[in-house]
Amino acid sequence: MLHMENVTVTFQDGEERLTALDNVSFEATPGHLTFIVGESGSGKSTLLSAAAGLLTPDSGTVLIDDEPVSTRVRLEKIGMIFQQANLLGALNVRDQLLVTDHIRGVKPRRDRADELLATVGLEGLGDRKMQQLSGGQRQRVGIARALMGEPSLILADEPTAALDSERSHEIVALLRTLVEDRGIACGFVTHETELISSSDEVVRVADGKVTAAEAAIAA
Ligand code: ADP
Ligand code: MG
Repeated sequence: MLHMENVTVTFQDGEERLTALDNVSFEATPGHLTFIVGESGSGKSTLLSAAAGLLTPDSGTVLIDDEPVSTRVRLEKIGMIFQQANLLGALNVRDQLLVTDHIRGVKPRRDRADELLATVGLEGLGDRKMQQLSGGQRQRVGIARALMGEPSLILADEPTAALDSERSHEIVALLRTLVEDRGIACGFVTHETELISSSDEVVRVADGKVTAAEAAIAA
């Protein structure tokens, strides 16, 4: 699981220092989607970057399964999903997953890749080029890729922002099932509060501060 306590992140902004996260505490617990909602510029992506150890906070602690986040912890325990799926155009669908084995320095697990593609509804599409997939299918590849390392935490930054409403709901439903089944914690940044259901957790970010949101906004 993810546990963040009193995390402050500042950026140099010309002459001034901008406080992007202001003494934030946040938790994502296994088996649930934890939605992070808030206006553009409120600090949502900074929160995920700090959770992933992609930036070092000015102060505060970030623990993944009780261990301080680091590059090693990120590779071993965190799967990331982005708005544009961040997939490599030259690689076929299966290779999008196998590249993460390469990064981890383990032998390419072709069978695991094909199994995960089937899990996300892309059975038999491993040899396809990315250009031959729809937006929703590409995001499914992104989800399968995030699962390759058997993560205990998934961090998703507006993964449905480029999809229509029906596809967005499908992607969220898929992720919800996967994290429930596998006991994965998941921080999910979105603008679209209609994606949230009563089984999900919700926090709101405003001006770099996290406030517990009224549960289940759209339930
Ligand atoms: P959100 O994801 O909610 O739209 P961000 O976390 O991206 O918001 O940004 C929060 C604030 O921090 C914004 O004011 C943004 O301009 C600023 N910020 C984010 N990243 C950087 C950076 N690398 N350098 C300077 N300012 C940044
Ligand atoms: Mg953002």
